[in-house]
Amino acid sequence: MPGCTGVDRVPHGQVVDAPGFDISHSLPQQEGEFVVLMYHRVTKSEKSDFLPSALNCPASRFREHLAVLARHCSILPLEEAWNLVRGGRGLPPRTVVLTFDDCWYENMETVVDPLADATIPATFFIPAGDIDREELHPNHRFHYLVSRVGREQLTRGLQSMLPSSSMVPSEEAGPWNLRLWLESTLGYELASQSGCAFLDTLEQGLGAPSSVGLGKNLYMTSDQVRDLPTYGIQVGNHTVNHRQLTALGEAGQRVELAGAQRILSALTGRPVTTLAYPYGLFNELSVKIAAELGYRCACTVMPGYNDGDTDPMRLRRINASQLSGKELAFRILGAAS
Ligand SMILES: [Zn+2]
Repeated sequence: MPGCTGVDRVPHGQVVDAPGFDISHSLPQQEGEFVVLMYHRVTKSEKSDFLPSALNCPASRFREHLAVLARHCSILPLEEAWNLVRGGRGLPPRTVVLTFDDCWYENMETVVDPLADATIPATFFIPAGDIDREELHPNHRFHYLVSRVGREQLTRGLQSMLPSSSMVPSEEAGPWNLRLWLESTLGYELASQSGCAFLDTLEQGLGAPSSVGLGKNLYMTSDQVRDLPTYGIQVGNHTVNHRQLTALGEAGQRVELAGAQRILSALTGRPVTTLAYPYGLFNELSVKIAAELGYRCACTVMPGYNDGDTDPMRLRRINASQLSGKELAFRILGAAS
């Protein structure tokens, strides 16, 4: 199956929060700082169909955000914001950068169209292996499974496949944390070959509805990705298979980072110069390889703002998907605005 590569082990006990679960950074943006906002899928429907809500922003909310940003902020491309900060060359007040992770087809209509209409720049960080993909990425396959069979049935299925000492997290933990817990318990990523085999067995054991072919309606096509720069959207690296870089050795990280760079630059005919680490996870090796490949900016999911002292290979982002227009305004403009 595409994307099911390698058998590298996930370090046990390595559990990270879903991107943007930390919404504690509520100070208004200061002079000399820029904010990078992070989104994933922007849906026409108000409710997420199967993705965890942290990865899903209704288009109505995104339109509210755009209204706030267009009125009060300067929206710049990522590298331009960084170059202005680094050079001390007059970063406009309330500078904001828009980023969208992963390869969601629906974003062509809900994001690209409104941004192009308003001539607003953005970066799409695209896992190259998801372009034209017919089957769901294993992570999405797992979330789809959870949404279709329900938590109770899934827990029974997991209990029958895992050691009896494994305590499946309660429903309050949310689907994102359930996936992290599962990978930590298994000792491998769902996106590895072992993970895909586990999903096959779990789906069969549960008699779950098939997810075969669902990727066709979810992921962007190569034609769409090729056209993104013509709409003012910069295409950034998000690896090939959306693997945890920290679970891979040097060769594995190089394959993921250089492979995506090759595919995306060939497709768009432009150099790929920005990167977002999948899940925001990286180590010194990731930074070294990225720098060798010529990357000048790399985004994490560490919440916060960026200034001239921020390491450009460790840029912070705010997950905007779950913020109302008012909350977003409060973050950027402050309580008094
Ligand atoms: Zn991602």
